[in-house]
Amino acid sequence: MLERSEWYDIARRTNWTPKFVTEEQLFPPEMSDPYGVPNELWETYDEPYKVSYTEYVSVQREKDQGTYSVKAAVARQNFVEKCDERWRAILKFHFGGVALAESISQLGEARLVRFGKAPGMRNMATFGLLDELRHGQIQLSFPHDWVQLDRQFAWTHKALHTNEWGAIALRHLLDDIFISRDATTTAVMLTFAFETAFTNMQFLALAADASKAGDVAFSSVISSIQTDEARHAQIGAPVLTILVKAGKTAEAQKILDISFWRTWKMFSLLTGMSMDYYTPLAQREASFKEFMEEWILNQFERQLLDLGLQRPWYWDILLDEIEFFHHAMHLGSWTFRRTLWWNPPGGVSPEERAWLEEKYPGWNDTWGRLWEGYGQSVREGREDLCDPQSLLLVCTMCHLPMIHRPGTWPFPLRTEECQGRTYLFCCEPCRWIFRQDPDRYKGYMTLNERALAGEIVPPNYEGAVAFMSLTEDGGRDGTNFAWAYPTAEARKAG
Ligand code: MN
Ligand code: MN
Repeated sequence: MLERSEWYDIARRTNWTPKFVTEEQLFPPEMSDPYGVPNELWETYDEPYKVSYTEYVSVQREKDQGTYSVKAAVARQNFVEKCDERWRAILKFHFGGVALAESISQLGEARLVRFGKAPGMRNMATFGLLDELRHGQIQLSFPHDWVQLDRQFAWTHKALHTNEWGAIALRHLLDDIFISRDATTTAVMLTFAFETAFTNMQFLALAADASKAGDVAFSSVISSIQTDEARHAQIGAPVLTILVKAGKTAEAQKILDISFWRTWKMFSLLTGMSMDYYTPLAQREASFKEFMEEWILNQFERQLLDLGLQRPWYWDILLDEIEFFHHAMHLGSWTFRRTLWWNPPGGVSPEERAWLEEKYPGWNDTWGRLWEGYGQSVREGREDLCDPQSLLLVCTMCHLPMIHRPGTWPFPLRTEECQGRTYLFCCEPCRWIFRQDPDRYKGYMTLNERALAGEIVPPNYEGAVAFMSLTEDGGRDGTNFAWAYPTAEARKAG
């Protein structure tokens, strides 16, 4: 057997000159490369991580064997049966949001396999596709055992097939950046913006918290997945290098800015709420903001500059949102908890508030004050006062509720007219993304527009819960309002 290094460079050169069809027919620009990068430049693509099929299969086999044997071993300990509802909320939220998203990313990888113009990229993406198959399967397999304990776990498979608001938002994002663009753009949006910048956060941060929480199975699944992500996420950086070399820096920057912002919104929801509110205090490794600063902002910025690109133009808006966006999303989603497929804890007991105030100075005067109002209603036996009175307005780009920094008044109304219709946006970057390609985004109906069109019957909270298929499975407070009382004794007395 030859060493890999002795044959790899020859074997990976699989470009040829087509005789029976034109180059354009073989690689239509709208599927492959609308930027017109010359083939000679594509052939300089150098994947940073080199692996042969034999090596891939043997490593993956070991990884799967490891994870499934952990599954069998911990099944006997009944961790999920016994664990805190707070931890279950993290599991349900993660699996419902992530399992099918990983599955759908197979299509993005497959686009790179077929239409990528660099042979090395096609190789890497073939392994990436196999990775995502495994990630979809493994994350459907683990929670499947728990459906008999708790039917909300069935939302692992169900969530993305419903009109649940977070599912609509996530589908809109995945459709946009994973599966509806050419191979070159997909390589940047999926592997560089989504995977390099953000999946680290969900996977590394949660793996740390999971192992502290004693959830060996979850920690093992997500660490195992992360090792694959760390490999195939490397597809995108050399594509950016090539685009810059081809004089397409502005185009590269634009697709990066679009996908980075869209991904930020989704992860601040998923990881932000899980880290700062759901994870029991004793098991928290870092705050969401600390993690963002360390893992996302510093590392991502350094990488961008190395590649000859700049920070996205909205960097200051991003830094500002890191301070408040997920706090608002937590308060809002807890209020609308019947529209969730898990039971969110309030996560604002006196000790937790002290932690939040320490990590986010000013938290008590803003979010804390609002939670205090809820707490009082609970103590007075008026939990019904914590229920929403109307539906929220959502953004036409991220499909998340319109959120502003506390104290912003009047709310800035960001609109855009397109072919006789008015679109509403939560923030400047979401509107900017729409303006880059109105044809791509126009016509997609928000929850509010679906209510106006008569799809939500009756057009109120109850109707919305039914529209989201959550009449039976909708969330309740994950700790039965324990957070509203100063101590356990006070709670009993109350
Ligand atoms: Mn994956
Ligand atoms: Mn991936």
